[in-house]
Amino acid sequence: MFSRIDPPLRPERERLIQSLFEDYIEMYASRDERLTTRFSTNFSGYAGSSDILVTDRDEWIRITRLDFAQVPERIRIEMLNLSLQDLADDVVAMTAFFHIHLPIPEHILARETARLVLIFRLEGDDWMIAHSGISVPFGLAGDGEIYPMANLRERNRELEALVEQRTCALEDANRKLEALSNTDGLTGIANRRSFDQALAREWDRGQRAGTLLALIMLDVDLFKHFNDQYGHLAGDACLQAIARLLAQSGRRAGELVARYGGEEFVVLLPDTGLDDAGSIAYRILEEIRALALPHTGVPAGIVTVSLGVASLTPSRNYQPEYLVEHADRALYRAKQAGRNRMDSASAALTD
Ligand code: GH3
Ligand code: MG
Ligand code: MG
Repeated sequence: MFSRIDPPLRPERERLIQSLFEDYIEMYASRDERLTTRFSTNFSGYAGSSDILVTDRDEWIRITRLDFAQVPERIRIEMLNLSLQDLADDVVAMTAFFHIHLPIPEHILARETARLVLIFRLEGDDWMIAHSGISVPFGLAGDGEIYPMANLRERNRELEALVEQRTCALEDANRKLEALSNTDGLTGIANRRSFDQALAREWDRGQRAGTLLALIMLDVDLFKHFNDQYGHLAGDACLQAIARLLAQSGRRAGELVARYGGEEFVVLLPDTGLDDAGSIAYRILEEIRALALPHTGVPAGIVTVSLGVASLTPSRNYQPEYLVEHADRALYRAKQAGRNRMDSASAALTD
């Protein structure tokens, strides 16, 4: 049925079609809507990305405008290969292979070779475009494949791996952030925020279990003098030494040592009565004395602390701060009584 007709004026026609084609590509690249005037009324088009054969000229014009609206900036088309094929006296097919460089950072398609087939048909005096078939491959099919499924699966795996990697990095960053926000910058022990959380947690637990909860508050004696005499950096080092001692000295599981603020520290002791908490506080008092950090501005000649201890059974009628107030009051009494000592008070809460 098909017979090849060699037209008599082939070279001229070849030049003409080629210039029409280049014209067309330039209009497409520069997003020039005049391109749509080149479509034949009897047009069909095949867009590689949609895989839909369009047989309506107006629909193809709509798709073209959508294409231009999506990427309004000029695109660069790097032509690799052009070939022309006479199909009939009035029909010529032009096949082009090229790279599209879209003006977007991802460079989608930049490495892909696209193919465009334009079929020109002579209508009256004009060569109109009767068919446009673009194909944008997303990878080459593997052996025994018709569609590039292996390639797509590989891309999918790469994407999943990337998502996984990003998720891990995010979790890691969150963990670090969490650790930072729960840790006191100077001493490295738990900070006030962390203590508040632990207190609320232990208050609830004690309330449910009906067990005691104890708190030791510790304040460095006449620390202002220490700073005045030895300097702020020495003061920092002193606070670090005390924090280290508190964190290391035989803490049980569930206990929390935190920097409450300034030169004040707390030890939260779940399931602990006043006597036991008092003993622990007393041991801390002695351990800090044993550090024997020089402090000539105080009578003892070394850094000492005062401690307030409280223990109670948490009740739902009271806020956890109630325990802090009690320990704080005991601490105040220890200060009043001459510092370098421990005071304790039990508190019975009424339901
Ligand atoms: P008292 O025995 O009554 O507690 O006397 P004090 O001097 O310890 O009490 P005061 O509250 O008057 O002073 C606390 C001092 O602790 C003042 C402040 O400069 C110092 N301080 C608080 N935080 C830090 C810190 O992070 N580093 C240093 N070097 N000093 C601090
Ligand atoms: Mg203080
Ligand atoms: Mg103090």
